[in-house]
Amino acid sequence: AKQSGRNGYQFYTTEMQLTTDRALQIENALRRALERDQLRLHYQPQLSLSTNRIVGVEALLRWQHPELGQVAPAEFIAIAEASGQIQGIGEWVLRTAAQQAKQWRDLGLAPMTMSVNLSAVQFRHPDLPELVARILAEAQLPPQFLELELTEGVALHDPLGAIAVMEHMHQQGVKISIDDFGTGYSSLSYLKRFHAHQLKIDQSFVRDITDDPEDLAIVNAIISMAHSLGMNTIAEGVETQAQLTLLRAQGCDEVQGYFFCRPQPPEELVAFLRAHS
Ligand code: C2E
Ligand code: CA
Ligand code: CA
Ligand code: CA
Repeated sequence: AKQSGRNGYQFYTTEMQLTTDRALQIENALRRALERDQLRLHYQPQLSLSTNRIVGVEALLRWQHPELGQVAPAEFIAIAEASGQIQGIGEWVLRTAAQQAKQWRDLGLAPMTMSVNLSAVQFRHPDLPELVARILAEAQLPPQFLELELTEGVALHDPLGAIAVMEHMHQQGVKISIDDFGTGYSSLSYLKRFHAHQLKIDQSFVRDITDDPEDLAIVNAIISMAHSLGMNTIAEGVETQAQLTLLRAQGCDEVQGYFFCRPQPPEELVAFLRAHS
């Protein structure tokens, strides 16, 4: 906190300095993370509530650095976006996830979508549609098995441009899910033009759904709206049976969360997938 007085001021600058040092450290270390093979994807299953089957997995980036330790994506993705490194990292994520999906198909596991998080910076890059097409072709993965998770924020500065890219993806057959839905600022009037097939209900609404009638009302409204607009819904961050029961009663289509399965490295997830397919 910024305070008056010499000590308060000093505290403030030291704290800011620490923040900047760490960001610089991460930025530099990240530059070598790809070539040193420090990035991994973990995968978390998405369960259909109508069939009780796994219908997809979400790829979540993990970075283990020898000195910095395990750095959370929430921390390093923002730095990678600001430094321009997200393009290379994002391409690696897309390619690795697509190849993993193909490999699981080849193992004879039931078909599932592979959900990949896309940052706004990646989404705005003019070569994205071409990159996605190339990666799908390389992995020999049919486009309907790839789902891009975009936050509402991608459309913030240039809604028409964003809608055009989504339209392009949709034509290609790739699915789009709107992540963290309900926390962004996008105009609802754009929603129907987004070519999204799914709204992902943010975990902040799921967390208190059993105690907070307002959160329950919001979840209910999101589900009704999605269904009226021809979209389905997935709730993220489901941690308890009570949450699951409520979400099912509200007509939510899919769930994802620790209650069902934590994000896991591919070697470990495959056993879980086998048991549930
Ligand atoms: P997100 O896309 O909203 O992902 C959901 C986060 O919730 C993940 O955190 C996941 O591990 C965590 N989670 C899953 N189930 C539960 C649960 O039951 N309870 C709780 N409390 N949390 C749960 P994670 O893996 O730390 O990722 C954080 C964020 O970093 C992601 O939020 C996403 O915005 C970003 N991210 C992760 N991987 C990538 C990536 O490959 N590319 C980009 N651009 N962003 C990524
Ligand atoms: Ca999905
Ligand atoms: Ca996500
Ligand atoms: Ca989220």
